[in-house]
Amino acid sequence: MSSLLVDRIGELVTNVADSGTGGPLGIRRNVALLVEAGRVVWIGPARDAPAADHRIDAEGAAVLPGFVDSHAHLVFAGDRAVEFAARMAGRPYTGGGIRTTVGATRAAGDDELRATVRRLRAEALRQGTTTIEIKSGYGLTVADEVRSLRIAGEVTGDTTFLGAHVVPTEYADRPDDYVGLVCGPMLRAAAPYARWIDVFCERGAFDADHARAILTCGQAAGLGVRLHANQLGPGPGVRLGVELGAASVDHCTHLTDADVDALASTAGPDRTGTTTVATLLPGAEFSTRSPYPDARRLLDAGITVALATDCNPGSSYTSSMPFCVALAVREMGMTPAEAVWAATAGGARALRRTDVGVLRPGARADLMILDAPSHLHLAYRPGVPLVRQVLHDGVPR
Ligand SMILES: [Zn+2]
Repeated sequence: MSSLLVDRIGELVTNVADSGTGGPLGIRRNVALLVEAGRVVWIGPARDAPAADHRIDAEGAAVLPGFVDSHAHLVFAGDRAVEFAARMAGRPYTGGGIRTTVGATRAAGDDELRATVRRLRAEALRQGTTTIEIKSGYGLTVADEVRSLRIAGEVTGDTTFLGAHVVPTEYADRPDDYVGLVCGPMLRAAAPYARWIDVFCERGAFDADHARAILTCGQAAGLGVRLHANQLGPGPGVRLGVELGAASVDHCTHLTDADVDALASTAGPDRTGTTTVATLLPGAEFSTRSPYPDARRLLDAGITVALATDCNPGSSYTSSMPFCVALAVREMGMTPAEAVWAATAGGARALRRTDVGVLRPGARADLMILDAPSHLHLAYRPGVPLVRQVLHDGVPR
């Protein structure tokens, strides 16, 4: 078995909160990290580093767990750059452009969709993302949703069935029939290729009754629940997510006190956070020129917060987690440490994963070496490509 030593790490973010006096990021200094068979097997002082078959010299730089992007829509065709330009010229975002992408996606061949997914997955990896969730939702027929999930499943285990993204045009006059299709034949065909089910619960998409029906059917089929909630205005999504035990409610831009209280009520007795995570997607507010969610309010209420890209061709065409970290710090009241935690360990919580988002013996050897001495530089030097090297499953990429 071949071993790899990452040596001379100046600052190691472990996200193991009890590692000495390292704060919530569990920071350790002047350490080395040994990898075998895709897992971290040892972390200790650099002077005690064991011999290894291969060695990477971090030269005193910061090393962090790979980013966990828990919300992305990568299976689509075409782009909507013209719509973006119109929005920047003053046209509001309504979510209606999703249907434009549905048309292009249905018309595309498998190879075209596969090439886009692989290109975006590689782009994210270069920016430090080692775990990514990918949703369907631009097919909206049984066959197109299934092929979207199959193609997503070629690059991730965290696939999400989002047949309830919008009601497609051909069902515009009979949304109840479309909900019946999603809960019945579409879910039966999609479930073998999905780990999660998601609904866009928003005015103009699916209301609380439809969302509850779809998510409940998904749970009965063995899928975990997550949902798009409270993005464009106040609504029932967050409270519905809590009611159903969702792993995550995503967007959380427009919250009432009742929504915040509902999320806070999912805290366990051990004070290690909430079982329903609030996943914030600041790329969407950036790209739609909308007010950002108030992360400070959520954190102060003890709610576990994750950051993700929402990478999609309409409302957030970025695969960059460092960009999201910088936005969260500059615009959403998060400290750099809170934002880095939310983009790594927080994303792992949102996917109910314990093997990623953390660096300790037994964890996956998913990490990034920065061209910087500290995690602070991710927000302090926005727009700069600071990820020098990524290890994914212990393999340098
Ligand atoms: Zn989304």
